[in-house]
Amino acid sequence: MRTIFVVDDSPTNLTVAKDALDGIYMTYALQSAAALFKLAAKITPDLILLDIDMPEMNGFEAVTKLKHDNKLRGIPVIFITALDTTEDEEKGLRLGAVDYITKPFHAPIMLARVKTHLQMADYIREIESFSETDTLTGLANRRSFDKRLNMEWSRAMREKEPLSLLMIDADKFKSYNDTYGHMQGDTLLRTMGDIFSKAVKRAGDMVARWGGEEFSVLLPNTGLDAAVRIAEHMRTEIADTVIPQPNGQPTRTTISIGVNCEIPTVDSVVDDFLIKADKRLYAAKEAGRNRVCSEDKDGAA
Ligand code: GH3
Ligand code: MG
Ligand code: MG
Repeated sequence: MRTIFVVDDSPTNLTVAKDALDGIYMTYALQSAAALFKLAAKITPDLILLDIDMPEMNGFEAVTKLKHDNKLRGIPVIFITALDTTEDEEKGLRLGAVDYITKPFHAPIMLARVKTHLQMADYIREIESFSETDTLTGLANRRSFDKRLNMEWSRAMREKEPLSLLMIDADKFKSYNDTYGHMQGDTLLRTMGDIFSKAVKRAGDMVARWGGEEFSVLLPNTGLDAAVRIAEHMRTEIADTVIPQPNGQPTRTTISIGVNCEIPTVDSVVDDFLIKADKRLYAAKEAGRNRVCSEDKDGAA
């Protein structure tokens, strides 16, 4: 059941709205904007019905505050108000509300609008998640990895903290596909994604499908030694994992990993950071695969 917050300082109005919504939605009746923000810290609603004329924080101020909160800004807000001038309606919509209903309202129309906006929010979420997610593995895709990399790069520069990157490539994946079939190859990629995701522990860590049979892992505020440990853990986990075929026959595979760690400065370039990790990945391949490389050929780490 979807969750709706109704915010209104008048208990009568709250009862009217709650009566219309109850049974269809999980409804929370809240008497002030303060109560709204207090509950929103614990429960994220799917939609908010918001009165405008309220003491202390009014609905215009509340919607502005919602739109400035990264966690709450995506929640559709419908004003439900006695203020029926076009100026108020225009202001409400301009501040980011998706709809504006004047009191007294006709319950079926209010319900129809709520339903429409819940559906729209679902579509938006779906589109956003498709554009950020690799559909085969469910991991972040290249696009969202690039976005995060740039963000973490700037942050690491500001905070003078090390940022680590692993570039991972499946070994002899072409021959795995040729031997076991493309479907089994897809299964292997999904298994790898699961193993990599489990190997990183911090909330800021990101595992992405870089493309094809390549993965990238971003480890903010992580030094080279720790990054190499994580890479070694991933490598051994993969080497030790038996991936069954649909007929039960076991398959095995290995990966190679290039590791780079830098504390970014104004003189460093994020592309070079990536290229270095990639060069080390290919050094790992050249050295015989199923290994982690964290040094340049000239020995620089
Ligand atoms: P190396 O050890 O040097 O990395 O050898 P490799 O065979 O893994 O590398 P190569 O780049 O020659 O081949 C990559 C293979 O990955 C070829 C391609 O068909 C396969 N591949 C890429 N994307 C997918 C995918 O989504 N599913 C499957 N099943 N295979 C994929
Ligand atoms: Mg490969
Ligand atoms: Mg490759």
